[in-house]
Amino acid sequence: MRLGIEGRHALVCGSSKGLGRACAESLAADGVSLTMVARGRETLELAAEEIRHSYGVTVHTVAADIVTPEGRKAALAPHPAPDILVTNAGGPPPGHFRDWSRNDWLSALDANMLAPIELIRSTIDTMLERRFGRIVNITSATVKAPVDILGLSSGARSGLTGFVAGLARQVIAHNVTINNLLPGPFETARLMDTARQWAHDRSMDEEEVLARRRAANPAGRFGDPRELGDTCAFLCSAQAGFITGQNLLLDGGAYPGTF
Ligand code: NAP
Repeated sequence: MRLGIEGRHALVCGSSKGLGRACAESLAADGVSLTMVARGRETLELAAEEIRHSYGVTVHTVAADIVTPEGRKAALAPHPAPDILVTNAGGPPPGHFRDWSRNDWLSALDANMLAPIELIRSTIDTMLERRFGRIVNITSATVKAPVDILGLSSGARSGLTGFVAGLARQVIAHNVTINNLLPGPFETARLMDTARQWAHDRSMDEEEVLARRRAANPAGRFGDPRELGDTCAFLCSAQAGFITGQNLLLDGGAYPGTF
């Protein structure tokens, strides 16, 4: 299926590796030019070069922290009015709520709630004028089904989810959609970090934790980031203009509810 977005431009945050990179790659595969953002320049440049080489699209790179105002300004400099915005940053560290200070909470809110909202604020008006815009926030399955050690993540991301639920309904008439992707366990560096903490907490072997987590998922495996990338590209497609305000769980069926 062709997605009808060839020639559009996407700002993809947190895209030098993992889920953000997969979104960048899937969009590029459909002819979308990119601004890719991550803090570490070396990995970012490598990822951008691979995507240019594979898909022949224009790729700008911005080595910046998307959680800071300066980083967001830099991210928008190469292309200030993107058609597509994918918000993403690292998740807050796992831990225990008694250890979390007010500053830990503020950092989580900055990264996983306020930075996406600021990026939306900076880009949505030109999307409305153009009568085309696709915004996808990478959040987490923990918004729907909490995990005890990821409370900073589920807390901050729930704030973003609540906010965009309202905004999504205000902008859909202008062919601007806002949806959230809720990843369960995907095989990325982030997943390995979480598994390490889990293993440490239970004095278990890391490999054993990973094997148990794979076996505990109805799919018997972790997600492949490309599966999330292609889902993101579909939500950004011309055909997806009637889908908005949704929270799409990609978790191999781990969430146990019927709805
Ligand atoms: P990852 O493999 O660690 O990749 C994160 C990407 O974001 C990297 O390119 C990283 O590059 C960049 N990044 C992180 N913080 C940034 C910042 N402040 N400014 C700009 N770029 C930043 O992580 P992932 O697994 O893809 O996870 C992506 C998001 O999905 C995270 O929020 C994570 O919590 C969430 N999630 C992941 C899973 C999973 O199973 N993988 C499950 C649920 C939720 P630099 O470090 O160089 O900046």
